[in-house]
Amino acid sequence: MSSYFYGHLKSDVLASRMCGCYFCFRVFAKEEVRDYGLDRYDQETYAICPYCDIDAVVGDVIGTHVLTTEWQQERHATSFGFGGASSDEAEDSGCEV
Ligand SMILES: [Zn+2]
Repeated sequence: MSSYFYGHLKSDVLASRMCGCYFCFRVFAKEEVRDYGLDRYDQETYAICPYCDIDAVVGDVIGTHVLTTEWQQERHATSFGFGGASSDEAEDSGCEV
């Protein structure tokens, strides 16, 4: 919800060849995307994953790295908070010399 980044929008997905979902980690052709979510202005924006119904689809228009499991897992952790990586950042800001 809070993450609104390049590659995520309908126009980005339409400009891509392949898409990846960082919720269920699938990779599929953009033609498989059937639904787009609405933003607060009721405009179609986010691509909805045809497999898990989550708006976690990113198009490869920003780079094919988004199709890799490694990137998807990192993105998943950032967006859904299952990674528990935040403690790392807090430590970094305090102890830098
Ligand atoms: Zn999915």
